[in-house]
Amino acid sequence: SSFVDLGLAEPLLRSLRDAGYETPTPIQAKAIPHLLDDHDLIGIAQTGTGKTAAFSLPILQHLSEDRVPLPAKGVRALVLAPTRELALQIFDNVTRLSKHLKLRHAVIFGGVGQNPQAQAIARGIDVLVATPGRLIDLMGQGLVRLDTVTHLVLDEADRMLDMGFIRDVRKILAKLPEQRQSMLFSATMPAEVAKLARDMLWEPMRVEV
Ligand code: AMP
Repeated sequence: SSFVDLGLAEPLLRSLRDAGYETPTPIQAKAIPHLLDDHDLIGIAQTGTGKTAAFSLPILQHLSEDRVPLPAKGVRALVLAPTRELALQIFDNVTRLSKHLKLRHAVIFGGVGQNPQAQAIARGIDVLVATPGRLIDLMGQGLVRLDTVTHLVLDEADRMLDMGFIRDVRKILAKLPEQRQSMLFSATMPAEVAKLARDMLWEPMRVEV
């Protein structure tokens, strides 16, 4: 299949051409049609499979189709990642893929000053990539609001569990609207991740590569 066959819009196809991506990887070919159809999704995939573009492309397409005014500090798509390195990688992918769209995106993580991060969110943000701890810090100070979220990604859920972030993740989930599209990616499915998937996803499609 090709990216055109998957139903992606022209500005995204242009970004893909600019990035030199010619054909979808297996996770992209399987996941993108479900996600464009608004389904929730469980993706069993390792890093290196192209999973980042698999979830980013449909989200960017949805966000660019629905132009809604964002309130101050509001977030439309929230991507949670366990580490700063992964958050930055996802942010770089989103930057590359959203090149021809007018969407605002930012990345936040701990270990650095929070003021520039809070400023990036202050006017509202379309895509926020975050590690759970820093997001909870900003939530606690009223510097971000999650009641506007329409799209949620939990990436590397098994690593979130290993690193002790599941409680933080559940705290964040509790602040999200129930009406949203959610996806969970994990390389493995230990029982606790499967339970989290049951709690956060609604009739998910399952894609494994
Ligand atoms: P990921 O698994 O999302 O970390 O992606 C792994 C690497 O594959 C990244 O460097 C991507 O830029 C690259 N990549 C993702 N999708 C494609 C594609 N369809 N064609 C070529 N490279 C890709």
